[in-house]
Amino acid sequence: MGILTQLEIENFKSYKGKQIIGPFKRFTAIIGPNGSGKSNLMDAICFVLGEKTSNLRVRSVKNLIHGAPIHKPVSNKAQVTAVYTEEDETEIRFTRCIVGSGTEYRINNKVIDKTIQYQEKLENLGISIKARNFLVFQGTVESIALKTPKERTQLFEQISGSGELQQDYLQTKSDMQSSEEDTTFHMHKKKGISAERRAAKAEKEEADKYLNVKDDLSTAQVHYQLFKLLYNEKKIENLSLTLDKKEKEVAKMESRCSNIEQQLRSKKQESAKVSREIAVLDKKIQEKEAEAIILRPQYIKAKEKSLHLKKRIDGLKYVP
Ligand code: ATP
Ligand code: MG
Repeated sequence: MGILTQLEIENFKSYKGKQIIGPFKRFTAIIGPNGSGKSNLMDAICFVLGEKTSNLRVRSVKNLIHGAPIHKPVSNKAQVTAVYTEEDETEIRFTRCIVGSGTEYRINNKVIDKTIQYQEKLENLGISIKARNFLVFQGTVESIALKTPKERTQLFEQISGSGELQQDYLQTKSDMQSSEEDTTFHMHKKKGISAERRAAKAEKEEADKYLNVKDDLSTAQVHYQLFKLLYNEKKIENLSLTLDKKEKEVAKMESRCSNIEQQLRSKKQESAKVSREIAVLDKKIQEKEAEAIILRPQYIKAKEKSLHLKKRIDGLKYVP
């Protein structure tokens, strides 16, 4: 961090003509009797940093010119240059001049069109007159000591520059709270979605399982039908073979049957023939019986005669 190394004051307040004050060290004390111009030096620093006139203990900017309060200005212009030396020894010269009733700013003797650019350059070095974080005016220590805790907090906020950020801080805090609420909401939503996703995954797995089982069932049914078909084909084959065998047996039976019928017919014919012959023989027997009936008496007679003859023969026994 650099430091203020020198002040070049020209016709500013109690400093008449061109006065070079410095070089300043990192710690420099300025001492002097009352009214010797110590506070005017502070005013010169404030002036060159862009402080508004009312804070420089004068009514108008013109009164800052040496001799003006007693209506005897030594010049119509006054200026203050602050020499700022950076760590690498680079010097930056900030100048503020009183020109007429206004002021003009220069950086390294180059006129700056817009005051804001001059302030930005200072702020880039960490110097902000608005923050009042480096200038302690006369009576300030006493007034700080008399402040209430709340006022002191406000002062620290002003000095640290955090006061300017209060609005941003509150806005950011509110944004953060709403972001946290959003995050919580989205977390819950995410949890819900995760649970839904898990349930959907489980359902999908179950559906996949069902489809797999269905596929397995279809395959098993196809296998079953194929087996059934194969079994039926085998059965048909076996039945065909059995049918062939049976047909052959039937043909054999039919052939045997026709032979038997043939034989039956011939036997019937033979039987008819025999019946006829029997009838003829019966007729002959009847005729012979009738004949026998007729001849019986003759037979009995003949038999008796035979017996008689025999007896005679027996009576006529041979006697030698
Ligand atoms: P103290 O120790 O009392 O605080 P100081 O050293 O801070 O004193 P300053 O306030 O810096 O003193 O100086 C005050 C003196 O500066 C007064 O005498 C006043 O007349 C003089 N002064 C202020 N403005 C001008 C001006 N425009 N032209 C000439 N002299 C001025
Ligand atoms: Mg003083």
